[in-house]
Amino acid sequence: MTVPLIDPFQRAISYLRVSVTDRCDFRCVYCMSENMTFLPKKELLTLEELDRMCSTFVGLGVEKLRITGGEPLVRREIMTFFNAMSRHLESGALKELTLTTNGSQLERFADDLYAAGVRRINVSLDTLDEQKFADITRWGRLPQVLRGIDAAQKAGMRVKINAVALKDFNEAELFTITEWCAERDMDLTWIEVMPMGDIGNEDRLDQYWRLSDLRRTLGEHYTLTDLPERTGGPARYVRLEETGQKIGFITPLTHNFCESCNRVRLTCTGELFMCLGQEDMADLRAPLRNYPADTAPLEDAIREAISRKPKGHDFDYSRQTVDGRVTRHMSHTGG
Ligand code: SAM
Ligand code: SF4
Repeated sequence: MTVPLIDPFQRAISYLRVSVTDRCDFRCVYCMSENMTFLPKKELLTLEELDRMCSTFVGLGVEKLRITGGEPLVRREIMTFFNAMSRHLESGALKELTLTTNGSQLERFADDLYAAGVRRINVSLDTLDEQKFADITRWGRLPQVLRGIDAAQKAGMRVKINAVALKDFNEAELFTITEWCAERDMDLTWIEVMPMGDIGNEDRLDQYWRLSDLRRTLGEHYTLTDLPERTGGPARYVRLEETGQKIGFITPLTHNFCESCNRVRLTCTGELFMCLGQEDMADLRAPLRNYPADTAPLEDAIREAISRKPKGHDFDYSRQTVDGRVTRHMSHTGG
């Protein structure tokens, strides 16, 4: 029997987030600069390599796969990969196959994703105002995303909205977005903005809207009940008693979740990051490419990487400077 992946702090690694591309059809201001240079194609794992890589992780006990990017649905032939992963759902080895998307291509792919076994998806959406949406995503168009969300719900998938909390941007929409999600029976998670990558002149500290403040404002309108639910990630949940809806708060800058961290992240070039907030990584592409017919070297490299998973990360806004900044972009590691 295979020994499961356990890190030095006795955390079982059961969740893999996989970035399948660094490209995107949007240029969200907190994520990318307008003129991004993307990786040459030969650097990327092919769809076959992604299949082998993810299947190896599943063989080592990973039960949840979240596909992300960049924008996962702009990767050419991406449904081939989703369809390939569905065999692990059918065998029972994989409990959940899911994705995080900006929603732009959902209208096209919703039915196919459902057919591949995807039952829940996260759609990132920071504002319901068309002009503001165009401003924050630079290249995105709100109606297209809304049609995508409709298609996903119609196909039978549960949709959760992820919104980045941005001061002076969507602060005033807190209740509008909450109500909109309630009407559509969608959960909502707020994400605190993180210091990732070099995105030009946007000032992180200016954008920073504390989720503790957001939560307090929400509490003035609704009755919030803390939910015990833990996903092994940085999210905490409350229920709004008036609507029954679940609201999540992702505060990656606090250390309060590291002790239960069950996840690792694979970039589209096959680098494994053991912690979102640390630079340490393992190159898994080399053992994957160098030994096309033998999975043992890849498995060894994965186990070696997990043995280096750090206890926690180093983000810190407390001194009014962005310390612990990580130079890579979210679109590289996968949000
Ligand atoms: N393109 C897809 C999307 O937008 O959902 C998937 C990749 S995106 C990098 C994943 C998530 O990361 C999105 O919800 C996005 O809002 C979030 N994100 C990107 N940059 C961020 C930052 N600097 N701080 C916090 N969240 C960020
Ligand atoms: Fe693209 Fe997602 Fe980054 Fe926005 S947050 S630029 S949609 S990868």
